[in-house]
Amino acid sequence: MSGDVNPFESLQEQIDDAAEYIDVGTDVLERLKRPERVLETNLTVELDDGSLEVFRAYRSQFNGDRGPYKGGVRYHPGVTRDEVKALSGWMVYKCAVVDIPYGGGKGGIEIDPIDYSDAELERITRSFATELRPLVGADRDIPAPDVNTGQREMNWIKDTYETLEGTTEPGVVTGKAIDSGGSRGRVEATGRSTMLTAREAFDYLDKDPAGATVAVQGYGNAGSVAAKFIESELGADVVAVSDSSGAVYHPDGLDTRAVKQFKNETGAVTGYDGASEELTNEELLTMDVDLLVPAALENAIDADLARDVGADVIVEAANGPLTPDADEILTDRDVHVFPDVLANAGGVTVSYFEWVQNRQRFYWTEERVVEELERHIVEGFEGLVDAYEEKELPSFRTAAYVVAIERVADAYAESGTWP
Ligand code: NAD
Repeated sequence: MSGDVNPFESLQEQIDDAAEYIDVGTDVLERLKRPERVLETNLTVELDDGSLEVFRAYRSQFNGDRGPYKGGVRYHPGVTRDEVKALSGWMVYKCAVVDIPYGGGKGGIEIDPIDYSDAELERITRSFATELRPLVGADRDIPAPDVNTGQREMNWIKDTYETLEGTTEPGVVTGKAIDSGGSRGRVEATGRSTMLTAREAFDYLDKDPAGATVAVQGYGNAGSVAAKFIESELGADVVAVSDSSGAVYHPDGLDTRAVKQFKNETGAVTGYDGASEELTNEELLTMDVDLLVPAALENAIDADLARDVGADVIVEAANGPLTPDADEILTDRDVHVFPDVLANAGGVTVSYFEWVQNRQRFYWTEERVVEELERHIVEGFEGLVDAYEEKELPSFRTAAYVVAIERVADAYAESGTWP
C-alpha cells in the first residue's frame, strides 16, 4: 500500500482528467475540487480508568448542490483531514453517478477502535455526535457507516441527536439496525452493487462470469459480501481472499461463506483450513485472475504493483484503491477498471432508500430494495458506458466523472449565484 499518495490530491487529479472532456468553467471546476467546509474537532472523553483522552475528529461537507451532504464515518488510526476531504468528494460524484439526490460528506475519528472498550466507544461516538449536532440533520447532512463503524455507532449517533433535539428523526443517519429504522438489504448493499457492476462489466466485455477466477482484497463488509454474491449469483470461482492478516488461496475456489464464518470466529482469514495455500496481500493483488476486487482501503495498488497486476478486469469495492499513477499504468495496459463511484455505490443507494422510508415512515420489503438497487446500478453503468463510447474517453473512471461532474455542475448552474 502506498502511504505517500495524498487521496485528496488523487481526487483532484481525477476531476482534472475528466474536466478535459467537459465544457465547464474554471470557477465551477475549482468549486467542484474543494469541500465547502470541514469541521476539525478534538473530542475529550473519559476512559474506563477515569483518565481523559483526546481524539482528533473530522466532518467534511464537500458539496450540497444536489441535496443534503451524505457519507460515512470512519474509525481508523490513519484518518487524516485530507483523507476525509477526499472521501467526501468521492461521495458527491458517487451519488451523482447513480443519480440519487444527495451531495457528499464524510467523517472520521483518528482511533484504533480495537484498543477501546464498548463503553468507551459509546462515549467517544456520543461526544462526536454532540459536536456534529449543529451540522447534521435529515435535510442537512446524513452520516452512515464506513470502515470500523456499523449499526451500533449509527444507533448511538441517532439517539444522541434525537435526545439533544427532543425529537424522533431516524433519517438523521442511515445504516441503522432494522428495529431502529434501518432498511432491509442495507448491510449487503455495497457488496451487491460490486457484484452487479462485475456482472454488467463481464457482459459488456463479452466475458462469461461463470467459472471466472476472482481475487478479493479485504474481507470486511464490502469484500466478504461481494465475494459471496460473485460466487453465488455469477457462478465465479473466488480463488483468493485477504484481510490485514494475509491471504488464503484455493485454485478450485474458496467457500466464501465458510471463510467469513472462520473470520468471524477467529478475527482473520489466515488459518482457514479450506485453503490450499496462504499468500501475501501483494501476491493476491498481482495474481493472474479474470477479476480483481480491491475491497480494503485506498491506495492499495500503487504504480509498482500496477505493473504486475495479472487481472483483466478490476471492480473497485473500496474507495480509491488505485493511486492515479497506478490507474494510468493499468489504462495503458488495457486492464478494464470499473470505478468505486459506481461499484460500491450500493451502500449509499440503499442508504437513500432507508432515508426515504424514514421520511415516509413506511418500510419496504427486501425484494423491493434489491430490485430498486439493481435499477440504479444498471442505469448508472449504462450512463457510464454511453459517455465512454460517445466521448471516446480513456477509461471508465473518466467516464464516471464526466457524467457526475456534468450533473453536479448543472445543479449548481440552475441554482444561480447568491448573494
Ligand atoms: P471493514 O472494516 O468491514 O473491512 C475492511 C477489510 O479490509 C477488513 O477485512 C480488513 O482486515 C481489511 N484490510 C485492511 N487493511 C488491509 C490490507 N492492507 N490488506 C488487505 N486487507 C486489509 O470495511 P468495509 O466497510 O468493508 O470498507 C472497505 C472499503 O469499502 C473502504 O474503502 C470503504 O470506504 C469502502 N466502502 C464501504 C461501504 C460499506 O457500506 N461498508 C460502502 C462504500 C464503500
